[in-house]
Parts: sequence; structure tokens; C-alpha cells
Amino acid sequence: MARAKHKSTKNIANSQIAALNATVADLKKKNATAESEQAIAEAANRAKSDFLANISHELRTPLNAISGYAQLLERASGPSLTETQRRYLTNILRGGRCLLDMINDVLEFAKLEAHQITVSLELYNIVPIIEDTLSDMVTLASDRGVTTRFIQPEGPVPLGRIDSGRFAQVLRNLVSNAIKYNRSGGRVDVGIDFTNPQVIRVWVKDTGNGIPSDRMNDIFKPYNRLGAERGAVEGTGLGLAISKRLIEMMNGSIEVESEVSRGSTFSINIPAADTTVGSSHRERVDDNSIRQLAGCRILYIDDNETNRVLMEEMFRSLTAAELITGSTGHHALELAASGPFDLIVLDIHLPDMDGYEVLSRLRQIEGFASRVPVIALSAAAMREDIKRGREAGFFTYLTKPFVVDELLRTVSIALRMGAVPRDMIIRTA
Ligand code: ADP
Repeated sequence: MARAKHKSTKNIANSQIAALNATVADLKKKNATAESEQAIAEAANRAKSDFLANISHELRTPLNAISGYAQLLERASGPSLTETQRRYLTNILRGGRCLLDMINDVLEFAKLEAHQITVSLELYNIVPIIEDTLSDMVTLASDRGVTTRFIQPEGPVPLGRIDSGRFAQVLRNLVSNAIKYNRSGGRVDVGIDFTNPQVIRVWVKDTGNGIPSDRMNDIFKPYNRLGAERGAVEGTGLGLAISKRLIEMMNGSIEVESEVSRGSTFSINIPAADTTVGSSHRERVDDNSIRQLAGCRILYIDDNETNRVLMEEMFRSLTAAELITGSTGHHALELAASGPFDLIVLDIHLPDMDGYEVLSRLRQIEGFASRVPVIALSAAAMREDIKRGREAGFFTYLTKPFVVDELLRTVSIALRMGAVPRDMIIRTA
């Protein structure tokens, strides 16, 4: 009897072990499936991101020619253009800028969705960022008949813990919306509030049409333009969705208050640090510095002939510098070794070797690295491309399509400063 009982207990134990083994095997199988599904999803994400990066590169290269030549024509033609021709030119330039904004928005949002964007938080004085944003918006504001104003804060402003580039991007979006969705003769005021010592609140207040309360829930939804798609203002409906995510990544928030027919106030709340600053401490760039380029020898390497001709025309018509061009990495190395240059502008995608290899080989030329600044100018404009370029030791990394004034200004700063990368003080597109 006792033996029979022992046997049946053993049988039960065995069947429990068998059931456990089956569960473990099942779990392992599920785990393996989940891992392979995750690997497939990650590969699909990478493929999507590579696809977007390639598309962006391919679109930016011809856009560089369109906007570069239109800018040259605008500068060169002076009063010889008729009113109608000038209007055509303005439309080409505006269309180019709009297309670039749209490409950037769509790419950016896709990357945010794929969690491929990171922020790097540092303590920053936000006052110069606000001043720069408003000065960048002067043309847009005057085109729309809107006045902008920065209400200067009283007393020292705490530093914000932000990613300065991303913060500036969000602020640009809010200020440009406040101008675009305003009325002619309207106003945009920007101010800072730090009554709560832990939070800095930057607000952008406009006198536009406002947003109806029943549409407020949709305002941060991607691709939702709240009916603006039927109006004349161009957009993708992504700016606010991108802004909200970026600010949340900085541990902050965005809020909106609005009253129909009176206007809207968008506020960014970001964490404040204990440290304060009295005023803007960032070095500013002198616009007349183009004159400094006179007599300089500059080397430009780009495999795209249209871009080389554009650069030659730009230097010939606007500066008294001597520009030598080449189309490959080997050209860059031979020319750099053969003659003294004051500066090099280097494309990254070259047929024989990439710009990074060129840069590292240039460094092996005696005395070169410490003396000659090398600026990267590339249509590869994803954030990682720019980061990699800056980390590689380029003086700075500019993206195509470039803005003529900005490129010349950067060249002249680089000539003044030498080969030491000084990104902190240069605003790039
Ligand atoms: P976009 O401007 O490209 O359409 P946004 O995401 O920046 O995209 O804005 C989404 C929508 O929110 C806009 O299309 C517009 O209808 C509305 N909007 C944004 N800012 C304002 C504002 N300051 N005043 C009125 N409406 C606004």
C-alpha cells in the first residue's frame, strides 16, 4: 500500500516536471520569437532611417544649386531686374526654403518616432538664444507686417538645463508660428518668467486669430493643421508635434492658452539651474567681415561640378579671395601639399575617399593641422552626420543647401581663428 502511494506521488512529480519543462520550452520559444521580431523591427527601423537619410541627401544636392544660384542672381542683378523678374526670384527662393523646411520636418519626425534622436543637456544661457531667434525672424516678420519684441527680463536669469540647438529649434518654431498665424499689423512678444526658481518659462505671445477651444486637443497631433491647410500659410503640421517631444526630452513641457480673435500664448517650461547670468556672453559675428577674405587662398573640394561652379561664382562675385577647386580626395591632398592655403572647404561624399579620411590625411602634412581650418560642407545633414563632423575635428560642419552670407561669415571667422574648432560661437543652418 505504502509502495503504491509512493509510486503515485512519484508519477505526479514526474508529470509536474514534464509540464514545467514544456512551459520552459514554450517560454524559450516565445522569447526567441520576440527577439527575432525585435531584430526585424530594429532592422526595419534602420532601413527606414537609412532610406530617409539617402532621400534627404539626394534632395538637398539639387536644392543647393537652385537656392545657391537664386541667391547669387538676387545679389548680382541689382537694379537691372524688372519688378516681375524680382518677384519670380523671390518666389524661387521662398519655394526652396519652404521645401527645405518640409524635408527637415518629415525627416525629423520620422527619427523621433524611431527614437533615434537624443538630446545632450547642458547649462545654457537662454537669453542669446531668444535674441538670435528673433533676429533670424526679422525678414519673415516684416514680410508679414508683424512686429516682434523681446521683453528683457529684469535681474539675472538662471541658466536652463537644455540642448541649446534643440531648444533654439523649438523656439524658432513657436516664433515663426506666432508670425505666420498672425494678422498684418500684429505683434509677437517673447519674454522669460522665472518666478518659480526651479523652472524657466519662455513665452511667445501673438495677436493672431487664436485657436478655437474645441481644436486645442489636436494642436500637438502630428500632421494636424487645424484647418490651416485650406489657407495660404504653408506647413506640414509637424512643427508643434516635434517641439513637444523635444521639450519633453529636455524634461520640460509646452503649454498653450488661446482666445479666438485675440491671440495665443505658447509657453516652454524648462528646468532651471542654480547658476545665473547677467547678460548675453556669446561672441557675435560681424557681418562686414567678408572684407577680411581679400587676398586669402581657399581650397574647395566637391565632386559635384554644379556646386564647384556655384562656389567659384560666389567667391568671384562677392569676395577678393582666390578660390582653387578640386573634385576628389586625392586632389585635396595634392593641392594642399603643393601650395599654401589659408582654409579648406571640404565635401564629405567624395568618389575616392570620404571627407573624414581626407581630414585625417591632411593632418599628416607637416604643420597643416595646427594652421589651416577645414570646414565640412555636406548634403549629409542628419544630426548624427553633423555631430560626427564636429567631433572629427572640422572647424565646423555646414550643411547644403548653404546660405551664402552664413558660409562667407563662417569662412571669415575660421580665417580669424585658425584651425581650432569653435562651434560654440558659430550659428549654422
Ligand atoms: P504647421 O505650422 O506646419 O502647420 P505646427 O505643428 O507648427 O504646423 O502647427 C499646427 C497647427 O496649429 C497650424 O497649422 C495652425 O493651424 C495651428 N497654430 C500653430 N501655432 C499657432 C498660433 N500661434 N496661432 C494660431 N494657430 C496656430
